[in-house]
Amino acid sequence: MNKTQPRLLLINPANSYRKGYLLRRESKQAPLGLGIVASLTPPGWNIKILDENFREFRYRDADLVGITAVTASVNRAYEIAALYREKGIPVVLGGIHASSMPEEALRYVDSVVIGEAEGSWPKLLEDFENGRLRQIYTSGLSDLKNALPARHDLFHPGYYFASIQTSRGCPMDCEFCSVPSFNGNKYRLRDPKSVVDEIASVPHSLLYFVDDNLIGYNKNAEDHAAAIFEGMIRRNLKKEWFAQTSLNIIEKPELLKLARKSGCRMLLIGIEAENDEALKDSNKKVNLRLGVDNYKKAFRMIHRHGIAVLGAFIYGMDSDTPEALENRTRYILSSSVDVTQASVMTPLPGTRLFEKIKQEGRLLCRDFPKDWQHFHFSDVVFNPCRMTPKELAESTNRAYREICSMSTLRKKFIRTWWNTRSLRSAVWAWNSNLNYRSVGLEKPSEYRY
Ligand code: SF4
Repeated sequence: MNKTQPRLLLINPANSYRKGYLLRRESKQAPLGLGIVASLTPPGWNIKILDENFREFRYRDADLVGITAVTASVNRAYEIAALYREKGIPVVLGGIHASSMPEEALRYVDSVVIGEAEGSWPKLLEDFENGRLRQIYTSGLSDLKNALPARHDLFHPGYYFASIQTSRGCPMDCEFCSVPSFNGNKYRLRDPKSVVDEIASVPHSLLYFVDDNLIGYNKNAEDHAAAIFEGMIRRNLKKEWFAQTSLNIIEKPELLKLARKSGCRMLLIGIEAENDEALKDSNKKVNLRLGVDNYKKAFRMIHRHGIAVLGAFIYGMDSDTPEALENRTRYILSSSVDVTQASVMTPLPGTRLFEKIKQEGRLLCRDFPKDWQHFHFSDVVFNPCRMTPKELAESTNRAYREICSMSTLRKKFIRTWWNTRSLRSAVWAWNSNLNYRSVGLEKPSEYRY
């Protein structure tokens, strides 16, 4: 190492309360934001990433420290920041939590990057080098057209999937979601060729497209996804992948065909609930438009392309009662959804839901920042409208025990294989179900008064 080079240490902290997320290698996701920050850093810096997804942080010297954190891991970020600040090393915090709570973050770090780093990171480094680091850096949303690929070479080699981002932003406005406030409601797209080059450059044969909706909601976004899939096919990249999308994929059979041909094995779809009332609670417009009665048809259509369905469901909408949640669990068990992600409704800061629940005095966890560690989608952190917190926690735990029982998973495996006619997709679904099982059963939901 050249000793004259300034040292930038980027840290990915883990939620120290719920280490279940660390259990299975397949469930870990590379800290893509740090990889992007590294690619925005000019040559001449010595950059390292310390990643608590693999082992607990051990102090390592640096000239500048950059930490990313989601709400559930922010306390750990503050702990690590204190170690560096004690030694006079400046600490910068970015990511979705600090962007929503910059004033809180500034009590624990020297600088906060609000929103996306592209527009502000180079300026921050310049200020650091001139000894004039400011407290807040914010630059609005970046034009992704010339976005640089992430520095995958700096990620821990143990990641099972390479994380790739092709777009940012979402024009929908689901009440519980922090994407519109963090990434804006305009769908912005990277250059498809640069995305395909990035995919070709990673050694992984498995990919996770981290976009909130890989296919977007307009023709432009659809063409963009198609260009990426075609590029992967043309270059014979032989990758297998999964991605998040929404139900509107069923209106695009040609795109589904291309997705499959380019290696798609599984699609995560925000189903959220199986009844209109709960969908209206959270303003899930796309599902309301397509209609809950069409879910079955939608799953069948995705299966026909050999792709498994990972359905994301929420427990704890305003209209939910214990009976409604029992129905949700029955629905999940009887539907042809292959993998279930069942989350407890969690009002993340920066969302409309958080503001509403706070104003209505329904937050149970409010000793911040300490209580942020419970905002990880398994604990009940607020008072639901039509049941007690205890009932919500118990309903969720009961659901997990049924949905994640080995007998259910074995049945789902056979059904996925049958429905998709693809053993590979069934194996993908099986592994994902085991991930959720390890998370859901390892530490049951708790409720806090
Ligand atoms: S949940 Fe999905 S569709 Fe809704 S706002 Fe968030 S990213 Fe958009």
